Amino acid sequence: MSGQTVTTDRNEMKFKGLSISSGRISGQACLYSAERHKAVIEYSLVNDESIKSELERFDEVRKNCSDELDRIASDVAVSIGHAESEIFQTQKHIMNDPKVIDSIKNMVVDQRRNVEWAISDVFSAYEEKFANLDNQYLRERASDIGEIRRRLLNRLGNNKSGFVCAGQSHCIKGDSRIIVAEELSPDMIINMNLDKVLGFVTEKGGITSHAAIIARSVGFPSVTGIHGIMNYVRCGDPLLIDGDSGEVYLLPDEKTITELSPVENVDTGAVCMLTSPEGTQVLANASTLDDVNIASSIGADGIGLFRTEIQFIRSEKLLSEDEQFEFYNNAAEAINGKVVTFRMLDVGGDKPLPFLRIKKEANPYLGWRGARFLLGNPDIFDAQLRALGRVALNHKIRILFPMVVDAQQVEELLLRARAAIGFLPGAEKNIEYGVMFEVPSAFLQARKILNLVDFGSVGSNDLIQYLFAIDRSNELVSQDYNPEHPVLWDLLTLLADEASRQNKPLSICGEMAGREGIPTRLIQTGITALSVTPRLIPRVRNEMAKSVGVIE
Ligand code: PEP
Ligand code: MG
Repeated sequence: MSGQTVTTDRNEMKFKGLSISSGRISGQACLYSAERHKAVIEYSLVNDESIKSELERFDEVRKNCSDELDRIASDVAVSIGHAESEIFQTQKHIMNDPKVIDSIKNMVVDQRRNVEWAISDVFSAYEEKFANLDNQYLRERASDIGEIRRRLLNRLGNNKSGFVCAGQSHCIKGDSRIIVAEELSPDMIINMNLDKVLGFVTEKGGITSHAAIIARSVGFPSVTGIHGIMNYVRCGDPLLIDGDSGEVYLLPDEKTITELSPVENVDTGAVCMLTSPEGTQVLANASTLDDVNIASSIGADGIGLFRTEIQFIRSEKLLSEDEQFEFYNNAAEAINGKVVTFRMLDVGGDKPLPFLRIKKEANPYLGWRGARFLLGNPDIFDAQLRALGRVALNHKIRILFPMVVDAQQVEELLLRARAAIGFLPGAEKNIEYGVMFEVPSAFLQARKILNLVDFGSVGSNDLIQYLFAIDRSNELVSQDYNPEHPVLWDLLTLLADEASRQNKPLSICGEMAGREGIPTRLIQTGITALSVTPRLIPRVRNEMAKSVGVIE
């Protein structure tokens, strides 16, 4: 039986994944599905009335799908041919087979279960049976059966991502729960009440995917890379996550609970340095105003990376110049006279803006993203520049261009920026322009590029991805995602040396900067400004203080 109705003996089950964010936590599960019909909604029918209305729902959806299949069949008969249209007529006949209908209705009535669950169960069983037959013709019908199941479920549910129980009175949408999902997308994480979520367990997603970065910044234990876990977990099941070992226990027994009793996730060192040692800076990475406020209260030396695209994803629309101005201005004010580095929209890859309806790309990480996207969308680029220019009338700010590939592209970006901001007398003098070094070709033109800008920032998350041809969001290859690789350090040294020759500030804002042991090596390489998740600032600062001998 495929999918969501897998039965287990419901004893403790242990899964091993990859740690995204450390700490231990136990709590009940909340299932979140990217396509709700994949994790089929399951609920009990409490009285005869609800059974009756469930059967009516089934008749109605069957009728709608039959009409739809008729329509498709006649269109296909005209546009392609009669033989091809038969496929859809066959599907309609299978769907309306009295034996199939009876099985589904009986399940609804006898087991008092909802129709989605019955459809999924009956069709999945048929699909499996047909897929294992010797007769080739019948074996090929298995995919028709899968199609029918999807068609019916698509019509019944609104096929949107969301909590599996959403719409039912007991659904608490992740509050005080551990969320179990196929994958965390930035918009999903942003639309939850993150203050109340206890942790995350996901099937897919690498440790430097954007969602992982956000989970880490919020600070709850999270584990990824447990394929198929959604097949075993039900809403409300007890879970225990060990975010240090990457282990997840479903229905943990007494012994496991006692042995692994949850501990608080503490990240600060024993001594907490309130300021950065001389000659160094510990900045914060931020995506929201909350992040900026936390950074300010921890005493960050500024915001080294403000991911402006997150606000667009969160708002689910293109923000106007005025809306952007207000948001950026609030961020600039919240950091108490220190500098915010606003990164221009870095969309594409795993951060698409769905509302722009951009053509689907086969290789989004190598597609229309970063600087390429900005130059290709002058209206969007200019509106953001003008909004930032207005902020610069009252605040010193930095503007950072993402994913630049060479000096010529940097020249184009600067030309456009200066033209857009030039209309605001007095703004330019408060702006420093910089580029992200995250594509290997940019390192090879470091001299020319640094010559054009005021500062540089290393985006090691993408740099490692492009340098070693390794997908940062893919948990299957994360064991090879290696910030210790000597080739990476050769490139960092090359860039740091060039920045020092030109006397240009250089920082790093990728996740590796927050890893234990890395700050010391970065300082030795000549990169002394580190931008990390606000929560990690005390620990990183302590490590830096030790490495320059300020504390033991
Ligand atoms: C990076 O690539 O290292 C970076 C900081 O940018 P992002 O993670 O947003 O791609
Ligand atoms: Mg990047």
